[in-house]
Amino acid sequence: MALKLFNTLTRSVQEFAPLDPAGKEVGMYCCGPTVYDYAHIGNWRTFVFADLVRRTLEFSGYEVTHVMNITDVEDKIIKRVRENKTTLREFTSKYETAFLDDLKALGCREPHQNPRATEYIAEIIALIEKLIARGIAYKANDGSVYFSITKYQGCGCHYGQLLKLNLDEMRAGERVASDEYEKESVADFALWKARVPDDGDIFWPSPFGEGRPGWHIECSAMSIKALGETFDLHLGGEDLKFPHHEDEIAQSEAATGRPFVKYWLHGAHLLVEGKKMSKSLGNFFTLRDLLAKGFTGREVRYLLLTAHYRETFNFTLDGLSGAKTALARIDECVGKLRVIADNTTAAPEAKLVEQFSLALADDLNMSAAWGEVFKWVTETNKRMADNSLNASTAAASLAAWGKMDLVLGVGTKGEADVPAEILALAAARTTAKQARDFKRADEIRAELKAQGWVIEDLPKGIKFKKI
Ligand SMILES: [Zn+2]
Repeated sequence: MALKLFNTLTRSVQEFAPLDPAGKEVGMYCCGPTVYDYAHIGNWRTFVFADLVRRTLEFSGYEVTHVMNITDVEDKIIKRVRENKTTLREFTSKYETAFLDDLKALGCREPHQNPRATEYIAEIIALIEKLIARGIAYKANDGSVYFSITKYQGCGCHYGQLLKLNLDEMRAGERVASDEYEKESVADFALWKARVPDDGDIFWPSPFGEGRPGWHIECSAMSIKALGETFDLHLGGEDLKFPHHEDEIAQSEAATGRPFVKYWLHGAHLLVEGKKMSKSLGNFFTLRDLLAKGFTGREVRYLLLTAHYRETFNFTLDGLSGAKTALARIDECVGKLRVIADNTTAAPEAKLVEQFSLALADDLNMSAAWGEVFKWVTETNKRMADNSLNASTAAASLAAWGKMDLVLGVGTKGEADVPAEILALAAARTTAKQARDFKRADEIRAELKAQGWVIEDLPKGIKFKKI
């Protein structure tokens, strides 16, 4: 069953087909955090969504290169560095570390690359030079370099690929130096911002004079460097569609002359307790605020994953309590199955995994996917109540949960001994052995070893040992 996703570029649900002719490798870029504070729950919805996309692609057999940048130079950051009388690196590294810790607490797989904007200044400058050479960027009297929307359109390029822009009603032709500007304006945006006194010692030399990059060009430079001029997937929150993503497309396609990204995926907003999050309403939460209230990253992840990514989601503390109850149901069921299976291993129950895969393939229909999980819990509980589950059926059921959890990433409480991914690999090895594919079985054994696990075949089942 082919994976279908909603592509903002075509405004339609499309079958996913990677650019790789072998159909295997996938490049995926997600706009990362601007590290001037702790990320809030609205930000986390986007990052958990990116993790879901990555896990779904990996579950579907693709080899994903997941890149998420760290924006470590930007207007707000510079303001705070000055207010706190610290250095750029000292200030941003505190929030970068916190971000990566929180990402882990939410069960997200760490991106393969987390490029920092300040370490890509040479690539950013090279990209701007290309745009100047093509006559699409220009140096203005204020010393900054701007991208000309008019020149871009004059080359037959389309500005407004991700959303319909009424260019006549918008204030085209203005210049905007700020990283955050009115969404209603279609203005020439800054690629390179000339050094001003407020920047203090935060600036870099360049052929256009001392200054620093604009936010949009950073993402173009880092994504192209990591994934090539054209890559498969670009993700972000829907608030980034315009101007950030639209400007990324314009800069990148103007510089390379090639299509930038095949599929653009956007996650919807989040409300908290029915309202737009704001500090004054008392409904503004970082992950740390929620952990301090006694909730876990696992519960937050579960709740964020219950909604469809394209629907506005109302995040509530009651919802989090509900997440606790729901996860406890899964934990109890898995715990009992483990007792029955008693170290027996089996191939995953195919029907269950298939139903779950179908839900995912349908543009990540999570309510249907969780529906399959809880239907399984209910049926399993029934079968356990009437003693109709033997060890191998219980093992097949557990292996199926292990497979599904490769995507869900919530694990099971008290499971520290053998992670779900290792259980799934062991189950795959059992399947290979049953099919007399001993070469594959050996490969999986080597893979397990590479991940730090040795397995021993016992008459009753498999024994796992951590190296
Ligand atoms: Zn970005």
